[in-house]
Amino acid sequence: MPAVSVENILTLPRLPELDPLTSVERPVLAITTAPKGVEGEGFPVRRAFYGLDQRVLDPFIHMDQMGEVEYGPGEPKGTAWHPHRGFETVTYMIDGTFQHQDSTGGGGLITNGATQWMTAGAGILHIERPPEALIASGGLFHGIQLWVNLPADEKWTPPRYQDIGATRVTLLASHDGGALVRVIAGEIAGHKGPGVTHTPISLLHATVNPGAELRLPWRREFNGLVYVLAGRGTVGATRAPIGTGQLAAFGEGDVITVTADVTQESRSPNLEVLVLGGAPIGEPVAWYGPFVMNTHEELAQAFDDFRRGRMGTIPAAHIGN
Ligand code: MN
Repeated sequence: MPAVSVENILTLPRLPELDPLTSVERPVLAITTAPKGVEGEGFPVRRAFYGLDQRVLDPFIHMDQMGEVEYGPGEPKGTAWHPHRGFETVTYMIDGTFQHQDSTGGGGLITNGATQWMTAGAGILHIERPPEALIASGGLFHGIQLWVNLPADEKWTPPRYQDIGATRVTLLASHDGGALVRVIAGEIAGHKGPGVTHTPISLLHATVNPGAELRLPWRREFNGLVYVLAGRGTVGATRAPIGTGQLAAFGEGDVITVTADVTQESRSPNLEVLVLGGAPIGEPVAWYGPFVMNTHEELAQAFDDFRRGRMGTIPAAHIGN
């Protein structure tokens, strides 16, 4: 799992050691297992948030783990041009390359450890697919797409596109050097990540060595979720078992604990987790397909606006169809 790594983790800034007497461990509310599905033109995904109440997920809406899949020549798949309104998409590529183009003129390649942050806001059209060369050659493909909701007064914000190159991710070590933490967005113990978000969130990708424990200070006002990309371990003070494709939702407190089992499978030698949380928006969610609004009337309007071409137009020089 390449993402972004370092030769010597001990050279990185360290997270503080947390005093168990003054910090409250967040309890584990639920552990769910992501069902497998198919997205776009047929790329395999795990629906990470399936089965969890929207109030536990708030401000997040949806998350897909794309792959991990090893494609043969001609097999890589993407999406056709499609609209979004009312939220932001965060696409984090761990292995492989995704090509993006949108109706605002934004576009580019997202590859090995890079993140793309797209604020759909009032409306956007976009396409996400592997580049032609990768479709021809095949190869490894693994990433995450997360949907972050926008509050009612920001759903009509103009669309925006941010490319966050792999080298901009903030790298940290756990206090004893047993885990590598990549801060993609938000902040952890004062260390800021590069993503600029409308809705305050933190998003981390941590690699926890076999047998190591990661204790993360977590903002009290944020919800807390841990999703296992690969490997085996436990979460919380009660050491609830968790493995590949499972999600833990945490209750209130200021610390999230993740521990890697001593024994891991050889194809994923470490425990790989995404840790994410944000400030709940606390508004009604009306979500259908590519639109996330507050009411059914706004959803109907979104479909109507899309049909009438009010979410932008496909650029003249465009990829895909
Ligand atoms: Mn999309």
